[in-house]
Amino acid sequence: STTLMSGKRGLIMGLANDKSIAWGIAKACAEHGAELAFSYQGGALKKRVEPLAAQLGSDILVECDVSDPASLDELFAELERVWGRLDFVVHAIGFSDKAELRGRYVDTSPENFRTTMDISVFSFTSVVQRAEKLMTEGGSCLTMTYYGAEKVMPHYNVMGVAKAALEASVMYLAEDLGKKGIRVNAISAGPIKTLAASGIGDFRYIMKWNEYNSPLRRNVTQDEVGKASVYLLSDLGSGTTGENLHVDAGYHVVGMKAVDAPDM
Ligand code: NAD
Repeated sequence: STTLMSGKRGLIMGLANDKSIAWGIAKACAEHGAELAFSYQGGALKKRVEPLAAQLGSDILVECDVSDPASLDELFAELERVWGRLDFVVHAIGFSDKAELRGRYVDTSPENFRTTMDISVFSFTSVVQRAEKLMTEGGSCLTMTYYGAEKVMPHYNVMGVAKAALEASVMYLAEDLGKKGIRVNAISAGPIKTLAASGIGDFRYIMKWNEYNSPLRRNVTQDEVGKASVYLLSDLGSGTTGENLHVDAGYHVVGMKAVDAPDM
């Protein structure tokens, strides 16, 4: 372990269980010396998140539903009370009705379009709005995206449209906050088996396709996303903002099926 992040205080949002991408990020930040706080979506998740937080030496655990502005206000008021200052925030949150993560994008319902955009896009902006006030010595904000924002992927549908808007938000937030020394970036992770991912149609097929066709000929892990997050959240990333860093075994550079890929 190193001291790359010692003295840094960060909020991790979106930890559901030990398969969450947020868990890979939290472990890597803690390993490099960061002090962590966690927010979780609802009471039912508390019993899962509490022991994980404790494992990393954190007892700052706040319930927060990002669809509720009052809940976000309370979270940041609590951080202001216990820490006063914030150095980084990780937003690893997304949601869409899984009935619409299959079939055709064109059939998206207006209700689910709005919910998906609110939870998966606007929530990052509303988190950054509040984090800005606590990032008095500069800071780093990070969100999680997917290649389905850039190219059409099977079943990703409205989530792809939301991720495209999220990636655009990263650029606009980076410009707004750069003058204050606050950096805003995204990691575009390759497919990883998590609770959220299991809602996507044919997810096993998508995992296999990536394994066979990415330059590294394998999938990535939560821990690899964690390592990349340390770069963006620590001083190593001091010159990087508005970036979308692909941690996808290189899949985003590929133009067609690999010649050695097995038939599927
Ligand atoms: P996950 O299910 O472990 O995490 C999703 C989290 O979102 C959960 O903790 C859930 O509680 C939280 N959440 C949903 N609605 C919320 C709300 N209203 N308020 C507060 N929290 C809410 O799955 P994950 O795959 O780790 O997802 C984390 C992020 O990574 C998501 O943005 C996802 O789109 C993104 N991502 C995932 C993959 C993948 O293949 N797993 C790839 C690229 C990007």
